Amino acid sequence: MHGKDNNAVFRALDQSGQGVVAVRDILARLEGAGLDANDPRLDALTRELQRHSDGNHGAIDSISFDALVTAGQSLLERTVKEELVIPQFSKFADQVRDIFDKTKDNRSGSVASYIPQLARVAPDQFGVAVCTTDGQRLILGDATVPFSFQSSCKPILYSAALECHGADRVHAHVGREPSGQSFNELTLDKQGRPHNPMINAGAIMCSSLLQPEGAMADRFEHLSSLIETLAGGRRPGFDNAIYHSERDTADRNFALAHYMRERGAFPEGTDIFRTLDLYFAACSIQITAENMATIAATFANGGVCPPTGERVFKDDTVKNCLSMMYSCGLYDYSGEFAFRIGMPAKSGVCGAIFAVVPQVMGIAVWSPRIDELGNSVRGVEFFKRLVETFNFHNYDGMVDSRKLDPRRRRQTAESNATFSAIQAASRDDVDELKRLVACGYPLDRADYDGRTPLHLAAAEGHVEAVTYLLVQAVARNPIDRWGNTPLDDAIRHDHPDVADLLQQSGDENTSDTTDDEAANRQIH
Ligand code: GLU
Repeated sequence: MHGKDNNAVFRALDQSGQGVVAVRDILARLEGAGLDANDPRLDALTRELQRHSDGNHGAIDSISFDALVTAGQSLLERTVKEELVIPQFSKFADQVRDIFDKTKDNRSGSVASYIPQLARVAPDQFGVAVCTTDGQRLILGDATVPFSFQSSCKPILYSAALECHGADRVHAHVGREPSGQSFNELTLDKQGRPHNPMINAGAIMCSSLLQPEGAMADRFEHLSSLIETLAGGRRPGFDNAIYHSERDTADRNFALAHYMRERGAFPEGTDIFRTLDLYFAACSIQITAENMATIAATFANGGVCPPTGERVFKDDTVKNCLSMMYSCGLYDYSGEFAFRIGMPAKSGVCGAIFAVVPQVMGIAVWSPRIDELGNSVRGVEFFKRLVETFNFHNYDGMVDSRKLDPRRRRQTAESNATFSAIQAASRDDVDELKRLVACGYPLDRADYDGRTPLHLAAAEGHVEAVTYLLVQAVARNPIDRWGNTPLDDAIRHDHPDVADLLQQSGDENTSDTTDDEAANRQIH
């Protein structure tokens, strides 16, 4: 983004038209779009802007802007042009905050109590975090409080196994069907495999496939650094007390492992004790809703972590994992969740649910009170409310276009821009016209009546808007469906100053657009 592009972005930022922009306003613009000050992609840009602003009373002119804005520029450009995946992030954030507040009243359910460490967790905690595929973030409530990963680590164990061995080898040992049984049921499918990787038996199987030849420390380190990379470089913690109690109270998991060994389900040479140890350690890794949302966003982004741009998983791994999460991620509520909410998701008895809106965002909710099926009560309610407001259900676009849909918004942006330009011109809103220019939208498209922004600005007598449109070299004499030009409108509505402006510019520019050309610009 240099020269021409930079100028357009600068003009869009320069709301007052004074030729200078406060650095603080640029940073506020990024923040308003949900782009964090700690976002690694913006490091160089914010550092440069800050350094410049220190010596220049916090302001920057277009020449310095052009010289400085080389790093992180495309993100700034896309922010200004409202091209990020959630273009109006603050509006979206308000709606999500509202859902969060309403959900907070729900105090049903109780914390998991199969180990004392989980039974002691403060039950009313509630955190929600969003991270979009453009790295826009929203952090609400207790989203930065750590909790143990529990079953929500299962998609990662499965993906890690897929990355190591590929789908054929992994699925020789674990099925792809919902079990129709409880998550820790002592049952295997007809081929003697665990039903799927999202239940305990399947996750234990995936643990056995993780670098089986390696030392335990290396296997665990592999998993931790994978989680760190998925979370954009945030190192996860580890809850040693949870780990010990998981291990000491794990009769069922031991029974599952023995049963699978008896049925010959494991790869040859598997040490089930080391395998179980790795599984317990995975469940005891500490995570926050904030970091879990980034992990979910990495899945939403096809395996590339949005804030770092690092590819963590292959496309196929993500596709397979999301398919399993969609059909099996919510214990015995999986079918219902897929039906009502329509997002691939995974829950855990810690009270977390993370969900993926492919190509849009990852969302994590954490609230420790769970229902009898093991899912966070507030988590489920939050997602139900979320899909009432947004088109995030996988099949939503097919049935209900009234809800806000950030994914499909861009497709209608062109035609919306024409109407925005016409409306902006009719209320003398030059800032909005500038924004549309910065986005690359033409200002001389006509509506179904052949009315252009210039017609509207002239009819309302808006000198500023007319001047701006003329500077942008729009067609001066387009004819609307009643045969009127903007000059006709200015005269008819008694705006002599606007009529003069239009006449002068007509005199200066004889190579004006023909009526035919103007008619061709109409959109219907
Ligand atoms: N550590 C738990 C177990 O294996 C995980 C429980 C869960 O979140 O489903 O029993």
